[in-house]
Amino acid sequence: MSEKIQTIPIAKPWMGEAEAEAAKRPILAGWVTQGPEVAAFEQEFAAYVGANHACAVSNCTTALHLALLAVGVQPGDEVITVSHSYIATANSIRYCGAIPVFVDIEPQTYNINPMLIEDVINERTRAILIVHQMGMPCDLKVILSIARSHNLPVIEDAACAIASEILWDGQWEKIGKPHGDIACFSFHPRKVISTGDGGMLTTNNPEWDKQFRLWRQHGMSVPDTVRHGAKQVIFESYPMLGYNYRMTDIQAAVGREQLKRLPEIVERRRYLAQRYQQMLADVPGLKLPTEPQWAKSNWQSFCVRLPEKCDQVQVMQAMLDAGVSTRRGIMCAHREPAYSIEAWSCGVDSDACNCELGKCQRLTESEQAQERAIILPLFHQMTEQEQDRVIELLKSTILG
Ligand SMILES: *Cc1c(COP(=O)(O)O)cnc(C)c1O
Repeated sequence: MSEKIQTIPIAKPWMGEAEAEAAKRPILAGWVTQGPEVAAFEQEFAAYVGANHACAVSNCTTALHLALLAVGVQPGDEVITVSHSYIATANSIRYCGAIPVFVDIEPQTYNINPMLIEDVINERTRAILIVHQMGMPCDLKVILSIARSHNLPVIEDAACAIASEILWDGQWEKIGKPHGDIACFSFHPRKVISTGDGGMLTTNNPEWDKQFRLWRQHGMSVPDTVRHGAKQVIFESYPMLGYNYRMTDIQAAVGREQLKRLPEIVERRRYLAQRYQQMLADVPGLKLPTEPQWAKSNWQSFCVRLPEKCDQVQVMQAMLDAGVSTRRGIMCAHREPAYSIEAWSCGVDSDACNCELGKCQRLTESEQAQERAIILPLFHQMTEQEQDRVIELLKSTILG
């Protein structure tokens, strides 16, 4: 009888009876959206990251959209960001009718290269949207000083960065405090904790937090909780254009349990990442991710850059054939048909630009990272034996 080896997945949420039990609470109570579980999850999340306010929404993409609206991004404005990210980052800018202006990344951290930001700032620039890619904090100190000197708000796409930390005036602080103006998180299953789908906005500005709450619920003047508890008839009004970006209480109840598991999850991820670092250190030509001294990643993804001689697709296929899932490096939005000149005209005079996309810089490092890097399996339940299998397989595939 042939024994089928189980394929090691790239990621897997860590959930169990606690989450299943928690989901029962709102279902049996009969209050399933914008109720007490959402409010409690927001409070607990704000306390965890150290923010004054946290507002739950349907996912991180809608969180990014609201964050951009809150800082005043309007049609025709430019927003500086990276192409090297999940496509949702750039898409959220286009939802505002604004233009993403792409800056290249640093090859070591896969994050925006702060030294290239100033080159693309002009009178149309309205905001900077940075991404803590794969959970690695951006160089916020440098980015914020550039942004402040031009009076530009900074939004942090922290979709992958729950529990990541940054050294701030001698103290380790959580990403999402926030250090910029607004941070946006995702609870998609590919991230470190999950609610199925879900998102969170954190800020220290009470006005923005109020705005988020109106926008996520169709711009409605009276929240459900107030109407429900009212002893007198009240009619709501709709003073502004809003959206349906709500999180349900079922999701929030699950999220509260996930938050309790988070310290254990991060400890395990850091342990496994450390183990990858040690055991892959001697592979010739393989470049491992580096963590700046002032950063502690949550290791949402562990990304390695293959030696020059290796073909990315061949390595990935060989590993898949042997029962190990991998993913290519982070995508580049500017290379997708949705961002082709035909599909999307940024309106910038094409003579003025140095790439086919408009006002963007050459994105050599972004493209290289996409083509040369692969992401290895890393998840809470992964055993050391499973990790050893990944390591041995990667080594033998590379060394041929
Ligand atoms: C996953 C991800 C998003 C989108 O999050 P959703 O919750 O799926 O909308 C945005 N930005 C980055 C960097 C991501 O990794």
